[in-house]
Amino acid sequence: MKAYDVIVVGGGHNGLACAAYLARAGRKVLVLERNDRVGGAAMSEEVFPGFRFSVFSYVVSLLRPEIIRELELARHGLHILPLESTLTPLANNDYLAQWSDHDQNRRELRSIRASCSICCGSAATSAGCRKRICTRSGSC
Ligand SMILES: Cc1cc2nc3c(=O)[nH]c(=O)nc-3n(C[C@H](O)[C@H](O)[C@H](O)COP(=O)(O)OP(=O)(O)OC[C@H]3O[C@@H](n4cnc5c(N)ncnc54)[C@H](O)[C@@H]3O)c2cc1C
Repeated sequence: MKAYDVIVVGGGHNGLACAAYLARAGRKVLVLERNDRVGGAAMSEEVFPGFRFSVFSYVVSLLRPEIIRELELARHGLHILPLESTLTPLANNDYLAQWSDHDQNRRELRSIRASCSICCGSAATSAGCRKRICTRSGSC
């Protein structure tokens, strides 16, 4: 039977980072992952044929830069893409789009607020609409 210094239960990015640091420090490490692949909530999958998506996490906000450097993640295939835009589906087939351009975001929010004033009149406030968020066509 093989012997290990450390057994890490769960191959999410925290477990993997710990295991990598321990292995670099000379420990013999075993990572046990119950899924058929590692990555946890930060893993990507081919949701539609030919298109890979991040299943849960999509913004690299919690991964510390020193970990990227120290574990040489770029050399192991890490490639960070700029987040150019996001799209939040709303009721009534509408959507809220956000870009890295603040002016474009302001215009987007204004177009929704303008719609609020059409369907809710004075109910439209900076916090949004008294009912639900309004669509561009001015209905709730
Ligand atoms: C919907 C959603 C969106 C998110 N968006 C972002 C984002 O945009 N940016 C960001 O920085 N963070 C985001 N987060 C948070 C981020 O996903 C977590 O902080 C991160 O995944 C935590 O990593 P972890 O390794 O601790 O746990 P997890 O990623 O949860 O990994 C745990 C792993 O352990 C395995 N496991 C559990 N129990 C066992 C067991 N008994 N035996 C074997 N294996 C086991 C699981 O299968 C899993 O692979 C999001 C989280 C969610 C849920």
